[in-house]
Amino acid sequence: MRRIQIYDTLSRESRLFVPITPPKVGLFVCGLTPYDEAHIGHGRTFVTFDVVARALRRWGYRVFYVQNVTNLDDRLIQRGGAEGTDPLLLAERHFAAWTGSMERLGVRSVNYYPFATDYVPEIVAQIQKLVEGSFAYPASGSVYYDVARFPAYGRLSGQKTEAQRPGTRVTPEAGKRAPEDFVLWKAATPGEPWWESPWGPGRPGWHIEDTAITVRLLGARYDLHGGGLDLKFPHHEAEIAQAEAATGESPLVNFWMHAGMLNLRGEKMSKSLGNVVRLAATIDEAGPEVLRFFYLNAHYRSPLDFVEGKSLPEAGEAFERWSAPYRRLTALLTRDGPDREGAELPESTVAEADDLVSRLDEVMANDFNTREAIALLFGWVRTLSVLPQPFETLSGTAMETLLSPYRWSEQVLGLPLIATGAGPSEELAASVRVALEARRRARERNDFAEADRIRDELKAAGIHVEDRGGTTHWELRRASE
Ligand SMILES: [Zn+2]
Repeated sequence: MRRIQIYDTLSRESRLFVPITPPKVGLFVCGLTPYDEAHIGHGRTFVTFDVVARALRRWGYRVFYVQNVTNLDDRLIQRGGAEGTDPLLLAERHFAAWTGSMERLGVRSVNYYPFATDYVPEIVAQIQKLVEGSFAYPASGSVYYDVARFPAYGRLSGQKTEAQRPGTRVTPEAGKRAPEDFVLWKAATPGEPWWESPWGPGRPGWHIEDTAITVRLLGARYDLHGGGLDLKFPHHEAEIAQAEAATGESPLVNFWMHAGMLNLRGEKMSKSLGNVVRLAATIDEAGPEVLRFFYLNAHYRSPLDFVEGKSLPEAGEAFERWSAPYRRLTALLTRDGPDREGAELPESTVAEADDLVSRLDEVMANDFNTREAIALLFGWVRTLSVLPQPFETLSGTAMETLLSPYRWSEQVLGLPLIATGAGPSEELAASVRVALEARRRARERNDFAEADRIRDELKAAGIHVEDRGGTTHWELRRASE
């Protein structure tokens, strides 16, 4: 198998990737808390791990890619309360819109999107194990993790406690032994969704949902864990502490991968800072390929600056040049078919194309260097521009040879974007089912306004819903159709 080097955030070095049970690879990426529209910072993280999964699959690995959905948390409860909407319903809505954006961006490699609240029994069972092992303690109907009991806490991020920002005040939580202890189970507050537990009615904390899901779906130990760099502390520290204490096995994951932040005006793009650029609107304006190109034309671990009115127009121009030969060649092939007659290429050009594809695999196998891959393809654009034969004189086979580095890119970088062909992906179908189920429930309780709203949101995401003969049908229609 190919030698793949991956930078592991925990050991802080690039190491040879060896899966636990090859050719299977378990990949978990922290997903969205869908309390609002997604922004382009989220898009970067998910495009990053889409490419990781695509590359591993190209090299023969059977990747099982799980990305959770935090469909209940404080923000969803607050936002739901303010809008007079059930927070779980609000999450379903935003999730449906977000999946539409992912589909347009070509993010198609996730196998399964588990919703946190579907895993409450697993969450409760894991907390019980932690309490029995004295890694956690109940207090006033909540349960907290006892960080002092897990000495490795802080190894990933080099941080044990939340650095207190000047002017902020930490609200003390009843019964917490130490400020760094984090909540596993939150005692119910009136009006919020709740579940029964050995500690009374309540709901899961944020960190525990990931490890309850991964221990169930990927086992006590798995290969790759991804997420945005901002999740390193405390979220990923908490995951290690929870899973390793609950299962007694370590390390939880072999490689921790963190995608760099997208910065706007020098600061990380985040809702809490109020400096966000919306994902769906940006895809509309710039086009999904240009946005994807912008993300991938940087190393995934580097911070990426987004300058309004500059970054995307520049990426658009570069993408235009980068993909021009592709567009001309595919147009000729579409017109004349793959068997079109014409001149063949000199041996040296065929060898050069083959060699380029090998080099593309090499740079990607070196910690997924998409920037370098795009640069190599720019080199190919230059080669093609000085080719002695005009494209129009070439045979179909010769054209496919010239396209082969781009075919590699279609598969691995997802650029240029190609239609899925076989219809909507499994993942999209799964999330549309979730949205349609929410719509069905709304109609059941005679909330037709809500049912129509879900239909309209789906429509805005390109998914057209129709009720015929007692059943609901849907189809994906691209904006151009
Ligand atoms: Zn997470």
